[in-house]
Amino acid sequence: MFDNKESRTSLSELGEFGLIDHLTKFFDIKQTSTKIGIGDDAAVLNFENDEVVITTDMLVEGVHFDLSFMPLKHLGYKAIMVNLSDVYAMNAEATQVTVSIAASNRFPVEALEELYAGILLASKTYNIDVVGGDTTSSTSGLVISITAIGRAKKEAITTRSGAKPNDLLVVTGDLGAAYMGLQVLEREKQVFKVNPNSQPDLEPYTYIVERQLKPEARKDIPGLLKALEVQPTSMIDISDGLSSEIIHLCKNSKVGANLFEEKIPLDPAVISVCEEFNIDSTTVSLSGGEDYELLFTIDQKDFEKIKANPNLTVIGHMTEEHEGMHLITRANQKIPIQSRGWNSFTDAKDEE
Ligand SMILES: [Mg+2]
Repeated sequence: MFDNKESRTSLSELGEFGLIDHLTKFFDIKQTSTKIGIGDDAAVLNFENDEVVITTDMLVEGVHFDLSFMPLKHLGYKAIMVNLSDVYAMNAEATQVTVSIAASNRFPVEALEELYAGILLASKTYNIDVVGGDTTSSTSGLVISITAIGRAKKEAITTRSGAKPNDLLVVTGDLGAAYMGLQVLEREKQVFKVNPNSQPDLEPYTYIVERQLKPEARKDIPGLLKALEVQPTSMIDISDGLSSEIIHLCKNSKVGANLFEEKIPLDPAVISVCEEFNIDSTTVSLSGGEDYELLFTIDQKDFEKIKANPNLTVIGHMTEEHEGMHLITRANQKIPIQSRGWNSFTDAKDEE
């Protein structure tokens, strides 16, 4: 669960205030918009003429993460990514986060240090300030609640509701890897249960396991779109799978969509692991989730500006609402797109 097994300092030894000071001592201020960070009654932020974007997300042990294969440092990193992804999905720049933790006494201080090491790495890599938070005790397990704050010019902010018929549907990166990484990790966990001396060989699965354990939010995309002089008409991040995100865009924008199966970007590692597990790779990209890529629509006139970019793939186009939402298969069949994304109340994954 955590690497530092030599020493175990119980949370009560430090006390609440000592614990926060201890865990946050390496956090520094990088953003000019942060006027006052950790250490006062509240943080003070100033965004001058920009709009402010705020999003929050809660991760619960046993529901959203499994510490038997998720190292705490990775969990801290991923918890930040999940939130930053929602800020970038507004076409905004992420600037600050607050981090609140509830931990049971089975977590010593050293375990929380590892969790915060992941949070610190994420905050450095993504140039965000940790400006507040809280720690408290929990009777069972670990709960992490993060609020992310961002900024954008009013005219840049992109919601789910601006897509028009004939707009192009564009996705960043590739899809399905995080889900297949989870399948590999869960398989190895079962093998380990039967034979605790087995050492999993995850080498052939490096890319997909990393996509599951250490996802990266698409910080680069708002800046890239600005540089390309493309204002997306609608945008969402892919946390639940392509199909449910397309449905969100269509319902909010009151349009339909045609998605072309042959255009869905898949890494070769995903294709080969899907063959190994005998799972259809299109189903995985539609329903898998946790890719934290961005899905957006653009006016057709902007196609020339994005077509050569290796980060961006046109996977379909929007239609009139009454035409519905369809997957056009490689065999040229038209299949209705249904939401088979994860639901936190049934499948132990999150909605947002
Ligand atoms: Mg989202």
